[in-house]
This record gives sequence, structure tokens and C-alpha cells, in this order.
Amino acid sequence: MTEYFSFELIAQDGRARAGIFHTPHGDIYTPCFAPVGTQATVKAVTPQQLQELGAGLILANTYHLYLRPGDDLVAEMGGLHQFMSWSGPILTDSGGFQIFSLADNRVIDDNGVTFKSHIDGSTHRLTPEVSMSIQENLGADIIMAFDECASPYDRGYNERAMQRTHKWAKRCVDVKTRQDQALFGIVQGGIFLDLRQQSAEYTGALDLPGNAIGGLSVGETKDEMHAVLEAIDPILPLDKPRYLMGVGTPEDLVNCVLRGVDIFDCVLPTRLARHNAAMTEKDRLNLVNATYARDPRPIDESCTCYTCRNYSRAYLRHLIVAKEMLSATLLSIHNLHTLLQLARDLRQAILEKRYQSFVDEYFK
Ligand SMILES: [Zn+2]
Repeated sequence: MTEYFSFELIAQDGRARAGIFHTPHGDIYTPCFAPVGTQATVKAVTPQQLQELGAGLILANTYHLYLRPGDDLVAEMGGLHQFMSWSGPILTDSGGFQIFSLADNRVIDDNGVTFKSHIDGSTHRLTPEVSMSIQENLGADIIMAFDECASPYDRGYNERAMQRTHKWAKRCVDVKTRQDQALFGIVQGGIFLDLRQQSAEYTGALDLPGNAIGGLSVGETKDEMHAVLEAIDPILPLDKPRYLMGVGTPEDLVNCVLRGVDIFDCVLPTRLARHNAAMTEKDRLNLVNATYARDPRPIDESCTCYTCRNYSRAYLRHLIVAKEMLSATLLSIHNLHTLLQLARDLRQAILEKRYQSFVDEYFK
């Protein structure tokens, strides 16, 4: 693809794909789940723990880092990898999604978005060019085009947002300077399959090192999300990774890999951990529940994570009740392991050409 980035499609089983995305900071084995480190930290876990968990890619948020501590400061400190001491691949989003989520505190025009900081109310303006400049300062391996995410059911708005997203993607391509960063374009179009197909054609034709699917998991049904993925799967280039933004329950991984997705990210595992919930492949345990007070078992007897190998539900519940910080760390380790291990299992099933039977077994 380039001197710095290439994607090897190792195996296909139906529409499911197993590959390797080579980046300057290491190989990303796909399907891949990326833990989210909003403020250049995956909450409650150290980069060393993430490495031990086998995380192949982590995500950081442009909007948050631009406001605090500032992308210029991060650049001065040697870039995100050095600043947060994570030597593996990093992806930054464009800042768009968070700004569009500010609802009343932003104004969008064809040139960019003016918004008020959630920290101090100060006014800022993000354009495709500014987003690229911030992301170049942050220095992630994968950077995202500045896009507009519309509410999924509004056809008129989705048409306008898609056109804007396409124009903005071109502007991002035009101003990008760093060769050691891979820019991904973003497919938009809400739940409207013809718009999605149009967007996939446009975005794929930009011939960028990877393609992302935005504007999903924002209020539409699972069936609608799956229909979008099925509509664009035949259009997106086969030889580039596909990243489904902000999606990542265990069921989503299984269902969306089935429909041709390679990379996922989601705050769910770490957010649930801070709310005392442990994920299992198909269920959740709320460990604050009194039934666990004298439960000597680990969260999941089949789990091989550090937490399950060493700690009982009774101990984890005690930490939660006593408001000890370690509970967030131990639960985050377990929840992240659950998704990272699931992604590895999906990859193995694809390599062994038994993905459909894995899916059937999973949903039985
Ligand atoms: Zn575990």
C-alpha cells in the first residue's frame, strides 16, 4: 500500500475476513477490538497491562486531547506514543463525533464546526484542515477524516451530511503531510442503503489505506445496522481494512465480522467496569449484588485473564463496596480480555474456515 502501511488479507470465510494491517508501530491482527483511551489513557489500566492483554490497537480522542492538554503540548512531548508510553499502534478519531454530540453547543457550516468547550465554555473551530493538523501533532498511526455524523433516520440531513463528509475527506487528503500516518475515509448515510452505497463508492475510490463506517450504533436497530454493512460490503475495497466506529458489544463483534468488518472500538468494557459490571461472552454480572458476597468463584470459570486467575467474586464485591480503586482495574482487565479474546477466537475460526458454525454455536 505504502512504505509504512500494508494490509494482508490472510483468509476469507464467507464475508468474514482475517488479516494483518502493518503499521509503523507494529502489526494489527484482524478482526481486532481496540480499547478506547479517550484522554490518552485507557481508564484504570496501564499500557503494560494492555500489552499483556494482547491489545493490538488503542484509540485516543482528538476532541479531548486538543482541548486538554493541547495537541501542541503532546507534540512537544514527542507525540502520543511517547507521551503515554504505549509503543503499539494508536488510532485517533477526527474530533467530529464528539463535537456533533455537543448538540446545543455547536454550529455546523460547509467549512467546519464552531463549538464550545465542555471544560471551560471557550469557543473553538474545527475544520478538516484543523483536524488533520491536530492529528498530525498527536501522531497516531491511523488518523480519521473529519466527517459529519447525522441522526440515522433523517434522510435530508443524511444526504447533506454525506456530501459534506465527502468534500471534507478530499480536503483532509489535500492537507495531510505525514507519510507515517494512514488516513481512513468514513462512509456515512444513516440507515439509507442507497446513500450508504453511494458513500462507500466515493470513499473507496479515494484509495486511502483503510475505510471506516461511521454513524452506526447511534440509535438505529441492530437489523438496520446489519443491512447497512451488507449493502456496503461488496463495494468497499477487499484489500483495505474496514473499521466500524464506536461499535463493540460481544454480539456486535460476532455479527459484524460476519458482515465483513475488521476493526472495532468501544468504551463499553471499561465503562461497565467502572459501574461494577463484569462482561462474559453472553451475559453481565453486577458484582455489587449481595449474592456474590460469599461467592468464591472467579467472574468466569473459563476465563484466563489475570483477574479470573487470582480473584473471587467475593473479593471483587468487597473492593466495590469499600470503594477501592482496584475494582475498576481488575474489572477492566477482565472485560477487555473478554473482547480481545473473542476477537482472537473469531480470527481463529475464520482461519480454520468454520466461522458460520462459530456464529451458530455462539447464538445457540
Ligand atoms: Zn476474566
